[in-house]
Amino acid sequence: MVRSPLNVVIVGGGIGGLFAANALKAQGLQVAIYEQAPAIGEVGAGVFLTPNSVRHLQRIGLEPAVEKWGARVGHGSHYFRHDGAPIAPVQVTDSAGWNATFGMHRADLVEMLAGALPPGTVHPGHRATGFDQDGKLARVSFANGASAEADIVIAADGIHSELRPYVFAASQPVFSGSVAYRGLVAHERVPDWPTDRWQMWLGKGRHFLAFPVRAGKLINYVGFVPTDEEMKESWTAPGDPEVLRQAFAGWDPRIHQLLGEVRTTFRWALYDREPLPVWTKQRLSLLGDAAHPMLPHLGQGANQSIEDGIALATILARADATTAPSALLAYEQLRRERVAQVQRGARENGLRYDSAYSDLGVRDAEITAHAAFRKRLYDHDVVPDAQAAAAALVG
Ligand SMILES: Cc1cc2nc3c(=O)[nH]c(=O)nc-3n(C[C@H](O)[C@H](O)[C@H](O)COP(=O)(O)OP(=O)(O)OC[C@H]3O[C@@H](n4cnc5c(N)ncnc54)[C@H](O)[C@@H]3O)c2cc1C
Repeated sequence: MVRSPLNVVIVGGGIGGLFAANALKAQGLQVAIYEQAPAIGEVGAGVFLTPNSVRHLQRIGLEPAVEKWGARVGHGSHYFRHDGAPIAPVQVTDSAGWNATFGMHRADLVEMLAGALPPGTVHPGHRATGFDQDGKLARVSFANGASAEADIVIAADGIHSELRPYVFAASQPVFSGSVAYRGLVAHERVPDWPTDRWQMWLGKGRHFLAFPVRAGKLINYVGFVPTDEEMKESWTAPGDPEVLRQAFAGWDPRIHQLLGEVRTTFRWALYDREPLPVWTKQRLSLLGDAAHPMLPHLGQGANQSIEDGIALATILARADATTAPSALLAYEQLRRERVAQVQRGARENGLRYDSAYSDLGVRDAEITAHAAFRKRLYDHDVVPDAQAAAAALVG
């Protein structure tokens, strides 16, 4: 019997939703994305892609675009003490030595993912406000009065997910006590800045990160600093460049050189959530930050959402309208523990980065040893297990 392809609605056109749509399309499924913003877009900041997600971008044919728009970082990548004394190299390859670590401008990544979809896949201006389902169909309703029906709905609507409470009891995100100042500096303003490496400086209660994006034309920086003031996480809250410069006064002169060129910056409060025990309710499942918002201290939020998307697509490829709820449970089972480890790992790594140690020698030893964790993280390929789960589904 020929199965008709599943019909999937994705709520949220961020990196997670857009990648999932590409992966589902590659498996021949019907997909529509509903995004609240009037147009797909992203803010001026960078994201770091690592081998564990680049292998999936490669699978759906997007590696050349990553090569074109990204900036590959290599073996010069390094951790430093706050004053610039070297600590340890940064792991940039998987165990096999495959270097697929790229800095990317978030807008470039989003545009690349959206541009790879057939026209008409993305429906901007649709803010999901409600959800219901019966044994056969799932339905999303939107603030503009529209509604959409599908065999399944994927909530990829971020840390404040409107649809998450339809899966699991509503809860508050956890504030980390830190904010990130983020922004971009044109490389031509800092021509000596290397465009082939990821560099991080670690000090008491704060740390500073810089890596290239957009083929090295821009340098992305992030200054993580403590705050007493709990703010709603937002990409758009403006920050004061002078306050940022003061926060890193007395650090490595290279940081001063870069921050000296900062004219505008914005602040983003760092929140995560406890790992969720459940991601799925029948025909509704969570993906990306809706399922597992994490602190950025392993640079894995976007990478894990890409892993989610490829796992979901691999499993749904073998499902039909009847088996779709079991397929969603298989997807959740494959992803939940892996992602919970990364969520917890990001919290632990944040303590290292913010030097919450009385003996900095211990911190430095842990940073050096962390390469082994990164290798395991980057080696992971969810697809073989997803294929086995899909095969088990059809018996
Ligand atoms: C400062 C910072 C640094 C980061 N650095 C990295 C990094 O280096 N590497 C990495 O892997 N990750 C990084 N991340 C994390 C990464 O950006 C996120 O984990 C990733 O973008 C998750 O994507 P998402 O699609 O799940 O959620 P989001 O990007 O939040 O997208 C959700 C989308 O859903 C839409 N939406 C929300 N509500 C609704 C609704 N009701 N109806 C319709 N649409 C809705 C939103 O408008 C948005 O477009 C970083 C994050 C931040 C903030």
